[in-house]
Amino acid sequence: MVVAERVYKRFGRLPVLQGIDLRVRRGEVMCVMGPSGSGKSTFLRCVNHLEKINAGRLWVDGQLMGYRQKGGKLYELHDREVAAQRRNIGMVFQNFNLFPHMSVLGNVVEAPLQARGRRGGTRSQIQQHALELLDRVGLANKARAYPRQLSGGQQQRVAIARALAMNPALMLFDEPTSALDPELVGDVLDVMRDLASEGMTMIVVTHEVGFAREVADSFVFMDEGVVVESGAPREVLGNPQHERTRSFLSKVL
Ligand code: ATP
Ligand code: MG
Repeated sequence: MVVAERVYKRFGRLPVLQGIDLRVRRGEVMCVMGPSGSGKSTFLRCVNHLEKINAGRLWVDGQLMGYRQKGGKLYELHDREVAAQRRNIGMVFQNFNLFPHMSVLGNVVEAPLQARGRRGGTRSQIQQHALELLDRVGLANKARAYPRQLSGGQQQRVAIARALAMNPALMLFDEPTSALDPELVGDVLDVMRDLASEGMTMIVVTHEVGFAREVADSFVFMDEGVVVESGAPREVLGNPQHERTRSFLSKVL
């Protein structure tokens, strides 16, 4: 579902990703950890082509992100083609980023209503789907509320429902619980655990070791733009092979 091959990214002269090779199969969950500045968020942003990579290749759901390959050459896709690729990928950020002036339901229906011309589906079908998604994240009773009336954990669950509203093939999570009070973390992780068990393909940047151990199919430790270590979460977390992984894990465990 996601294939990264020798992905390089720099900002100006700062190298941020230095040859990332990763593979996430359909239905799998990959958890990514690493110190601040190691390139985790940048990698997620490259996956959905919010950032252009400088070298390498990234495929999502069989499509080369941002480019068309023809006769061994790469041609950049038009903005609307990139937008179509991105609609297949849901993203959830640390700080929720809900639209503050829209109700919870408004937030969830916004993207599918915008895309209605292309995708079909009546307004009431879209609303119905949104209400089902809100029910799934435990917030059916908050449809008419506004983001400021919700706790951080509730807002994050709305953000997940919103990302699911376009029926993405892949979900990217960038430290979805790290801005939350500890007692609100569990509800968000439960929603993510349910999604995983329903077969959603996910890449989750998180420092929640318990979640990674229980839910992830694969685990990646990144530092300074490289994959230092990857493998089954129990193995990497239980018996890290590299000193950098060990010293990092000793701080988060
Ligand atoms: P954190 O755990 O703090 O979220 P991270 O692993 O997600 O860290 P990134 O946000 O990917 O790290 O940043 C990696 C490096 O790239 C950092 O040195 C950062 O300052 C730099 N960087 C990120 N985005 C930009 C940008 N738009 N322009 C310039 N430098 C950037
Ligand atoms: Mg980050």
